[in-house]
This record gives sequence, C-alpha cells and structure tokens, in this order.
Amino acid sequence: MGLEIRPVPILSDNYAWLLRDPASQALAIVDPAELAPVLAAIEQAEAIGGRLSLILLTHHHADHIDAAEAVRERTGAAIVGAGADLGRLPRLDRAVAEGDAVALGDSIAQVIETPGHTRGHISYFFAATPAVFCGDTLFSLGCGRLLEGSPAEMFESMRRLASLPPETLVCCGHEYTEANARFAVAALSSNPAIAERAAEVAALRRAGKPTVPVRLELEQETNPFLLAPDLSEFTRLRSWKDRFR
Ligand SMILES: [Zn+2]
Repeated sequence: MGLEIRPVPILSDNYAWLLRDPASQALAIVDPAELAPVLAAIEQAEAIGGRLSLILLTHHHADHIDAAEAVRERTGAAIVGAGADLGRLPRLDRAVAEGDAVALGDSIAQVIETPGHTRGHISYFFAATPAVFCGDTLFSLGCGRLLEGSPAEMFESMRRLASLPPETLVCCGHEYTEANARFAVAALSSNPAIAERAAEVAALRRAGKPTVPVRLELEQETNPFLLAPDLSEFTRLRSWKDRFR
C-alpha cells in the first residue's frame, strides 16, 4: 500500500510534505521550514492516529530546514539528511547517502543523490507508492537554479529522476509551476501538451490549489528540462530561464 501524501504550504511559495504510512500509521514531514503550519498539519494527522517519526531534509537552505529542530523538540522525531552536508544541516539523527534505505513504517525510501542546486542535495524515492520528494531539483515544468553545482551535475540529477517509473508522483519544494509554465510555453511553442498543462495550472492556481504532486509522465511530456536531449541544450535552457521574465 502506498503512502498518503499531503502538501503543506509554508512561507511564501514552499511546500513541506506530510506523509503517512497507512499500515503502521507512521508519519513523516519533508522540509519543515515554518513551525506553525507544519505543527498544525502534524497535529491534525496525529489526531486521526499515528505519530511523527521522521523529519526528512532534502538540502541545507533555510526555506527547507528552519523549523526542523523545533519540530524534533516537540515531537521526538528523528532528523534525516545528507551526510555530505553535515555542518550545514541541523544535527542529524541519521546521515544518509546514495542508495541508503530509510524506513517509514512499512514504506521504504531510497536515497538518490541529486546535486546541482546544492552540492549535497538528496531526493527520497518511495518505490511502492511511487513518489519522489525532490526538493529544489525537479520542479513541475522546471528545475532548480544552479547555486552550487554545474549544468552537467544538474543534467545528470534530472536524468536520474526522469528514469523513475512514469506513474511516480513528483513532490517538489516550491509552487513555481505557473511561472515555469510561462517559460515552458516559450521554450516548447510547438508542443501541444504544454498549452494544456499551462491552462490546467492556471485554473488550479485561480482556485487556490497546489499544482503538485504531478505524475512524472506528464513532466516527461511538458518539462523543457526533461525534454532537453543533451547537456548543451539543457545548459542553454537553464541560462535562458535565469534571464527569462
Ligand atoms: Zn534551495
């Protein structure tokens, strides 16, 4: 049985993600960076059963980690993050690296190293759901900025994520989809699927709803960075997007 997944809107445009393993009722929160909304979501989830056991961090930026320590203090949950970023993350109860397994009750996440946005960025892939928590690497219709890594590293990270099963739910760290759609329409003007997705995204946002999670197969049809056939095209798109308004 797959995870139950809920985006928790925090800060201006971030998502923390609340996960429940239905068999054990174990709960996890991904990237809790603002205490009040995250605690409210946890309390609401615990009210129908289960306890928070894991705090999963994708990377060291403040808008992903800021409330992690406070959530641990209040719940006793363990903080999991990249061993490569010890010193830039809150104190880790478990440091992980490529290929490690992290268990939330009966649900197992595989750690995938996805550098590019930051050097130590990791993603958590729950194969049985399937769902991937990919922080600021793959966004709906976009990809993270290259703040610490090279285009080649990000291109490889995107290829890793693109190779997951097509039904995988992409659970990313920001609600950037509407702005990303404007770029995607410009970059992929002859792609009929992008116009359809852009209209869907606009309708969701007008209704105040999140545009994620989104199935990976839709991203494979509409995300310019996943459609880039090679590194030079990926690099061209990334630098164009950096200047795109
Ligand atoms: Zn970030």
